[in-house]
Amino acid sequence: MSAAPASAAPSAAPPAHDRSAALFAEARRVIPGGVNSPVRAFAAVDGDPPFIARGEGNWLVDADGNRALDLIGSWGPLIFGHADPDVLDAIIDAAKGGTSFGAPTEGEVRFAEELCAAHPCLEMVRLCSSGTEATMHALRLARGVTGRDVIVKLDGHFHGAHDAVLVAAGSGVATFARPGSPGIPAAVAALTRTAPYNDLGAVEAHLAKGDVAAVILEPVPGNMGCIAPAPGYLEGLRRLTAEHGALLIIDEVMTGFRLARGGACARFGVDADLVCLGKIVGGGLPLAAFGGKRIFMEKLSPLGPVYQAGTLSGNPLAVAAGRAVLRKLSPEVYARLDEIGAAVEAGLRGPIEAAGCAFVRVGSMFTVYFHPEAPADFEAVKRCDLRRFGRFHRAALDRGVYMPPSQFEAAFLPATLTEAEVAHLVRVLIEAVEVSA
Ligand SMILES: *Cc1c(COP(=O)(O)O)cnc(C)c1O
Repeated sequence: MSAAPASAAPSAAPPAHDRSAALFAEARRVIPGGVNSPVRAFAAVDGDPPFIARGEGNWLVDADGNRALDLIGSWGPLIFGHADPDVLDAIIDAAKGGTSFGAPTEGEVRFAEELCAAHPCLEMVRLCSSGTEATMHALRLARGVTGRDVIVKLDGHFHGAHDAVLVAAGSGVATFARPGSPGIPAAVAALTRTAPYNDLGAVEAHLAKGDVAAVILEPVPGNMGCIAPAPGYLEGLRRLTAEHGALLIIDEVMTGFRLARGGACARFGVDADLVCLGKIVGGGLPLAAFGGKRIFMEKLSPLGPVYQAGTLSGNPLAVAAGRAVLRKLSPEVYARLDEIGAAVEAGLRGPIEAAGCAFVRVGSMFTVYFHPEAPADFEAVKRCDLRRFGRFHRAALDRGVYMPPSQFEAAFLPATLTEAEVAHLVRVLIEAVEVSA
């Protein structure tokens, strides 16, 4: 993070991180790796993570008082930056009436109506507390309604940290899957087949076996960097899953309410059987959702036989925060997000390509790839120069821009970014790419 104010020229000396370093040492004694989610440890880039003291609009302030423009936004949720006054007011109002009931409330009804009105694939929706839960429940539902056990996921796509989706492809043709972590039974991993992104033939080969309950994917993956779907790819998956009696689950935890009010499904005009939401819908509080076609959602308990539950599901604070964000997400906001994205791209693309790297943007998500060609799938992302990415990341942070600490994560632009902040991030990232060489 930068010790200098945003308007000043960056100082030559790297900013001090003494307090963060001390906290990280203390954290490592009582929290594995010092963090409550692995990528926060900055293991993929040089140096230790700054500990965050507070957020102010689009900026983070760390424990040493350094400031950085935040392009992570809590990994996607904070589309209006930190401590947005409308979201805070909604949370505080809700909290005064009690923080949890474990019983139905009117807010949940209105929120569900708002979600169904916003997203083209939602006829019914159920709330839960994390994206991991949303994909886990959606997959169980798909297995429950089809009576089939196999799921197909795509290489490099991330759907949370439960067993069925933490499965990586084996080398070569992705016919045999292996667990992505010790602790995942081989028998569970064997039920997940993988295919490369943007390759319809590979998915069709799995579907042809007739035992696939669902194909799950990120419509615009942002967990291997940001990659756009090839023209016709999403439509092709829709057609193939329907032909083979499998459900299409579009995981919009990241893209929902980011690429459009109706998510990637609205932006690309694609229909899904089930959709997963999270991140933005919770307004920065723990909330996620899964939903879709009524004929499937009605199979959920207590209406139907497929079990799903959660003590804090539909939590009143999280629902209030989510509703406050949805109220603010007007067509003007999406127009502004596309404008901001275009301005960032106009500033960055030329210099980044001139430095031998690739720039990919979809809406307000973007990635700088340390490879001359923009990737189409996970194999291509893995060819990036990860050491150079690490130098780039540190240089950006030292100059006051907080980028995701991994080549495999997309950056997010908030709708509240000012022209001065766009200019700051463009100047800093160009410099960081240059010094990383
Ligand atoms: C973040 C993410 C998840 C997991 O959500 P959590 O709330 O971290 O459990 C699932 N799918 C996608 C596409 C995500 O980006």
